Amino acid sequence: MGKVMIIGAGGVGTVVANKVAQNRDVFTDIMLASRTKSKCDAIAEDVKQRTGVMIQTAKVDADNVAELVRLLNDFKPELVINVALPYQDLTIMDACLECGVNYLDTANYEPKDEAKYAYKWQWDYRERFEKAGLTAILGCGFDPGVTSIFTAYAARHHFDEMHYLDIVDCNAGDHGKAFATNFNPEINIREVTQKGKYWENGEWVETEPHEIHKPLTYPDIGPKESYVIFHEELESLVKNFPTLKRARFWMTFGQEYLTHLRVIQNIGMARIDEVEYNGQKIVPIQFLKAVLPDPGELGENYTGQTSIGCRIRGIKDGKEQTYYIYNNCSHQEAYKETGAQGVSYTTGVPATIGAIMFMKGLWNKPGVFNVEEFDPDPFMEQLNQQGLPWHELFDVDLEF
Ligand code: NDP
Repeated sequence: MGKVMIIGAGGVGTVVANKVAQNRDVFTDIMLASRTKSKCDAIAEDVKQRTGVMIQTAKVDADNVAELVRLLNDFKPELVINVALPYQDLTIMDACLECGVNYLDTANYEPKDEAKYAYKWQWDYRERFEKAGLTAILGCGFDPGVTSIFTAYAARHHFDEMHYLDIVDCNAGDHGKAFATNFNPEINIREVTQKGKYWENGEWVETEPHEIHKPLTYPDIGPKESYVIFHEELESLVKNFPTLKRARFWMTFGQEYLTHLRVIQNIGMARIDEVEYNGQKIVPIQFLKAVLPDPGELGENYTGQTSIGCRIRGIKDGKEQTYYIYNNCSHQEAYKETGAQGVSYTTGVPATIGAIMFMKGLWNKPGVFNVEEFDPDPFMEQLNQQGLPWHELFDVDLEF
């Protein structure tokens, strides 16, 4: 059906490259471009071994709009799947506008010098994408992404009014390392060390980092201590589903992980400003990334599974209804299929499905949209087909 360019050759890029290649009926020509071309070449070789599909590769600095424009004009894709870092969202959107290319990403923009992610920067592109007749699909990973689509699906099929939404994200995997992050360490540590924030009665309530926590029971896993943190999909979900009285995001953390995190913060290694070292300026968190395990390399010995879903309370046919929709994903299965662990897999598969939705004409409308603004049904069908089956529970104890 069309040409696609993937930007970013990390853990998520590896999964997207594999899944796009598995859907050859939809994606006729594939290019993988990133800062380090050798990483693209290694992924392309691996994909060829697994699927027989050839992927073109290129080097690009996605912070540089002119460089992006040259590459886009040369390859002429219909869609860019941006799985580089959130810092590159705006430059890639600028280049897409200049070249008439549609856009999809999995994480909202975040300025490098401030650990503060928000949609406002990308929502400001709405008019420009509308005028250009181009589609931008924001936040099409698992969370944000599938969690937002689960919410849209619940609103359409199971509730007249949703009142309470709790997104619950459990990683019950074991990678055997003393400390490692499951996706880009810089982005991950910036996210989880922020203050907590949730929506209640029309306003944001701020908490100290990890202040609110309780054990929650996850299907096939059991109870795990879970912490309220701010997560980007809450910002768009409370706008798009205004009947929500409360919306929170819970993530599991092990004690060891939290202890390491506290030490990292206390000794200044989570700092995002420049410090002078041996006559050179370095950013501590970037240096830390260089010494931590590469999330892309965790897959081989990763055991256990992730469980991510939405627990919703609301009204259906005049009666209170509780509903839990979730997916469990095995790290080992993900690794066998794509060479990447479960967290990269649960992000890369939805990004590919979003691209399939666009290519099939099911999700294209001019403008900039969060995923819950599109029809959830064909996406939900694809989740079952592309490796992330979901399950529903009704009238359950939501534990809240
Ligand atoms: P990685 O750090 O493994 O990969 C990022 C890739 O982007 C690397 O290949 C890196 O290049 C490349 N890159 C970075 N800067 C540039 C640049 N200026 N120009 C070109 N390429 C660049 O990250 P992940 O694969 O773990 O994550 C990818 C994205 O997915 C992130 O934005 C992350 O926030 C998001 N994510 C979303 C989730 C969701 O559920 N919605 C969950 C997990 C992640 P190099 O190899 O040279 O370093």
